[in-house]
Amino acid sequence: MRTRFTWAVSACLLAQAPAPAQAINATYARQLDRSGCTQLSEAQGCDIHKSRAENAKAGFVAPAAARPATNALGFSVSNMDLQADPRRDFVRYASGTWSDRTQIPASEGDVGRFGELAHQLDERLLRIIRDASRQRAAVGTPVQQVGDFYRAASDLQRRDALGLKPIEATLKAIEGARLDDPAELARMSARLQLGSVASPIANVDVGPDFRNNQVNALAIGPGVQALNRDEYLQPESEALRRLYLGHMMKVLSALSEAPRQAWDHASTVLAMETELARAQMTAEQGRDPKFMDNHLSLDEVQAMVPALDLRALLSALGMPAATTVIAPDLGGLKGVQAVWGQRSLEERRTLLRWHVLSSQAAALGQPWRGLAQSFNLQRNGLSQAAPLDVDIERLMGVVLPHPLSRLYVQRHFTEQTRQEISEMVGHIRDEFAERLRLNPWLDDATRAAALDKLSRVDILVGHPAEGDWIDHSGVQIRADDHFGNLQRLREFRLRRQLAKLGQPVKQERFAAPGNTTPISVNAAYNPQTNGIDITAAIVQPPFYTPGADAAVNYCTMGAVIGHEITHGFDSFGRQFGPAGNLRDWWTPQAASAFQLRADMLVKQYSEVEILPGLMHNGSQTVTENTADLGGITLAHAALRRSLKAKPQAPIDGLNADQRCFVAWSQLWAYKARPERLRMLVSIDYHAISTLRASLPLRNLDAFHEAFGIREGDPMWRAPNQRVRIW
Ligand SMILES: [Zn+2]
Repeated sequence: MRTRFTWAVSACLLAQAPAPAQAINATYARQLDRSGCTQLSEAQGCDIHKSRAENAKAGFVAPAAARPATNALGFSVSNMDLQADPRRDFVRYASGTWSDRTQIPASEGDVGRFGELAHQLDERLLRIIRDASRQRAAVGTPVQQVGDFYRAASDLQRRDALGLKPIEATLKAIEGARLDDPAELARMSARLQLGSVASPIANVDVGPDFRNNQVNALAIGPGVQALNRDEYLQPESEALRRLYLGHMMKVLSALSEAPRQAWDHASTVLAMETELARAQMTAEQGRDPKFMDNHLSLDEVQAMVPALDLRALLSALGMPAATTVIAPDLGGLKGVQAVWGQRSLEERRTLLRWHVLSSQAAALGQPWRGLAQSFNLQRNGLSQAAPLDVDIERLMGVVLPHPLSRLYVQRHFTEQTRQEISEMVGHIRDEFAERLRLNPWLDDATRAAALDKLSRVDILVGHPAEGDWIDHSGVQIRADDHFGNLQRLREFRLRRQLAKLGQPVKQERFAAPGNTTPISVNAAYNPQTNGIDITAAIVQPPFYTPGADAAVNYCTMGAVIGHEITHGFDSFGRQFGPAGNLRDWWTPQAASAFQLRADMLVKQYSEVEILPGLMHNGSQTVTENTADLGGITLAHAALRRSLKAKPQAPIDGLNADQRCFVAWSQLWAYKARPERLRMLVSIDYHAISTLRASLPLRNLDAFHEAFGIREGDPMWRAPNQRVRIW
């Protein structure tokens, strides 16, 4: 799903986080599922790895005896299909046997190496959570909060007995509210943003200003709807919209509405949400900082939305009335006025009532929880829900991210790993600097600026420093109040964010739930901090295997690091200077030389048909595709440099180059249901993983040489069509 409100600069993540089942209501899963784009409040970033002996020589791995070199999740020749011809179908050659023996679990939309690691993580986290739930710990400690949250969430009997009680007061307030009064509509919007993740009317956020990241700015954006913007508008989402209508009918019927009335209400909601979605910015515009960088006076924004009293909105959120605000989505605000200013009072109530029901259903008892779950299963083409325990654990990863992460890193992350990865970071950074110095299309001025920016990229591995964890200890977590726990945690998070207005900016690391917290399998570059977070959860197989050979570790973890570093220089990140502010530091010649190459990548990725009639979107994914190409290019070059000092003999019949490219490709081995593919093509800034498994490689001369790929072979790309950026 879309992020809730993106003013955001976003981080460039290594991969789209899978949508956790629980949050679950379709609607508000978005909080969990930030497709690489973040709220400014949670700036995240964009993403990669060497044989034990060789690595030890290169200086970034402990001696072999320290840890076992094998892991079922890591690179393995047994994943390959050695009968397949790498010149014809490299993905099949690299991962064919994995693909044959791997089934998509009934409760998942897809399966890949991220997902496999995530499952191992689920098991580890569940052990931690269950252990916590059996302990008696001091109030406010991570053990108490994690343990009691789990106990309350698992108590389905109590949740069922409460029924609609947890949201009754809000539903009643909606019935009695004078929603045609701008101040009252504003107070209702504030109440919904504080209580249910996001408001369907308007949303307020605070984060570093694009132009000056030392200053926290206030942003106001439109409301959030249940589906992604394109899903309301595109003809190919017709089936989803019918499913959504049917889901609304079921929920409203469960509220004792007669069929005719339920139909009228469901149709009204869909029509209003479609109108709001049509006015909002597209996913591509949401990746364009210049498009979103609209500084206006509060009065100017107020003039756009007379139906909503913005001063009353800020006041209800406990905020001072700012004089200047950022309105990242001007079109979306016009939609707010059109819908909330012109629809009848009854229609407005209908949409709000639906919003509260749908956004909170997963936290309620039956039948609400089951209806939400059933809709999500159908929309994702799943036949089975994830176990309740796993749902709860994934939800905790979002609402209690740092307390749970602290317990995880205490048990599963070592200082040795941090040192190994940090050393690899140094090798990849040096390689990039060398290539910038030799780059044929950068002029001297841009080259000097790029080297300066690279030298200032701040890379952290694992988790925040001791004093930088977000302190949740003041939030009351009770063993008998699941709904209340969620409300208090959500309100804590929003209020903490809003309180930053007027305060000096303190850059938070590993802080975007579901994406960059230490328990997220991901890595991220944030252009506003010029910083990279490499999470504790990702520095393990298949991304990093202590003891694996140089070719494997460079072309997995090293390529992840390279991916993230080059994000500062892709068509998005290059708009930010070394200090993290929006500033054009490129000469026109360098910018056009870059654009020429980026356009070639757009074309390569737009030529692929994902499903019959569904083409891949090369424009939407160009920044990530540039980073993938940069990542494997840097990783392979760094591998070659390390092998000069210490050549690697063939292993399992593959030389170092061959193992490098197979290891990269295995990282992206992937299978998905059509529903998942459709959703990813519409919202994800990353290419579908199966494309990542081969398309970047086909731009490398060394890849053609490694496997003897010749003109006429399906994997061949003519030298003048190979894109070389870094
Ligand atoms: Zn990325």
